[in-house]
Amino acid sequence: MPPLLPLLHDIRACRACEEYLPLGPRPVLVADARARILVAGQAPGTRVHATGIPWNDASGRRLREWLGLAPEVFYDPARVAIVPMGFCYPGSGPSGDRPPRPECRRLWHDRIFALLPNLALRIVIGRYALAYHLPGRGRASLTDSVAAWRTWAPALYPLPHPSPRNQMWLKRNPWFAAELLPDLRATVARVLEDASL
Ligand code: SF4
Repeated sequence: MPPLLPLLHDIRACRACEEYLPLGPRPVLVADARARILVAGQAPGTRVHATGIPWNDASGRRLREWLGLAPEVFYDPARVAIVPMGFCYPGSGPSGDRPPRPECRRLWHDRIFALLPNLALRIVIGRYALAYHLPGRGRASLTDSVAAWRTWAPALYPLPHPSPRNQMWLKRNPWFAAELLPDLRATVARVLEDASL
């Protein structure tokens, strides 16, 4: 049996932080050892919790546009792994959804990534995912990290959250759409093409 399967089984049965989850545990992630691209975000929202489908909302539509990926490719586990920093909806607070539960990272992330050996590209969204995938960047501002994207490309691209609420950020940082996104789309296409050879 591929070693990821028992791990995914254990994650789907996890109730480690149940007492803090207003809608209860429902881990949502996609992981397959063949995946070449990682999408590492924050945590599911209520719509994703309800459907069990990651990025199944307006933010997901915009993210797929940014990556230049059709839904059938984005949701193909053999090509794209989707592993947020928290697997269950963490609830909301005064300024939006709460941060991903820290138990998730402690229990699961190192074990999952040890079993994803074929990742060639990490799409890292938001500061919690940045703190894990780029240790040392956790305290830098998200804008500074995204602006420094050439430091890590083409292996890793830091992104802001693709929420429609981030429209002002996009307006204030026109280099993101003009420079980062075309480079990212070209890298995504190249990584998937290399995988199909
Ligand atoms: S958020 Fe993570 S640690 Fe908490 S119950 Fe869900 S899978 Fe388990």
